[in-house]
Amino acid sequence: MSIVILGVFAADCAFRGQRLPSMGETVLGEGFALGPGGKGSNQAVAASRAGGDVHFVTRLGRDIFADMARDVWGQAGVTPHVTEDADSYTGAAFIYVNADSGDNAIIVAPGAGGQLSPADIDAHAALIGGAAVFVTQLEQPMEAAHRALQLARDGGARTILNPAPAAEIPDAMLALCDVITPNESEAEILTGIAVASVDDAKRAADALLDRGVGAAIITLGENGALYRDRDTTLHVAAIRAGAVVETTGAGDAFNGGFAAALARGDSPADAVRFGNATAALSVTRAGAAASMPDGHEIVALLS
Ligand code: ADP
Repeated sequence: MSIVILGVFAADCAFRGQRLPSMGETVLGEGFALGPGGKGSNQAVAASRAGGDVHFVTRLGRDIFADMARDVWGQAGVTPHVTEDADSYTGAAFIYVNADSGDNAIIVAPGAGGQLSPADIDAHAALIGGAAVFVTQLEQPMEAAHRALQLARDGGARTILNPAPAAEIPDAMLALCDVITPNESEAEILTGIAVASVDDAKRAADALLDRGVGAAIITLGENGALYRDRDTTLHVAAIRAGAVVETTGAGDAFNGGFAAALARGDSPADAVRFGNATAALSVTRAGAAASMPDGHEIVALLS
């Protein structure tokens, strides 16, 4: 049962240093790392490693970062469906990491991925319409996500929207989502309800159900995740699978694991447990795409 994911790839270029330079100034850095990123790409890698048959729809430039994207997907077993754009560039992120505090400041240039259009989506209509599970985020334009959710819904797919980065979403688009998966801050931006507890998360989930989604999963970081639909409420506690090394991409791991479990026929509750375990393993490893666990590791953690 295929999983189709629409989203963006970005090459994460992370610089460590004592401070950001002022305008006109150059400072020496203390470290550098280049790694694959982009929420949609990370989720595709997570879902494929977790055992899914994953197809990733995106737009890339024709450059060295596009080669990097294809390598990452190749290693993870993700099938790409790429519109090549020779006039643009592949997404890239400049990440400044403060060497003392670990805090970061980021510029993301989505490049070709930021130009995904409804016409690009229509070019993959048969693929999207034939998916068992469809997943998207909001790093590409809203109109492209909306069009793809409509095609997926019309074709009978289970539709999942990870509303990240946070943005206002039209009710007509929310009505196309079987499941929406905000984290705490995204849930607050969508509903106006500050999420600091499981009870807050229930109220935010209710607000999203009232706006037309079929179910809401609010991910709660080290407090796990809350699933709520009209009949069921489930809070799963986070699993401690080892020392926490890096939480970047935890939400992507959750979404990928959740989608893989749904696609093979798990109930939503079991899929939430599987997503939670996928994310628990990912935070014990460095990197985002590089930290995604294999299906057998997830099964072992749950047994
Ligand atoms: P995001 O990365 O989008 O901000 P969260 O921080 O809510 O998302 O994390 C997503 C999921 O990752 C959580 O629902 C949980 O399953 C898992 N997770 C996050 N932090 C931890 C942690 N410290 N230990 C175990 N699991 C975690």
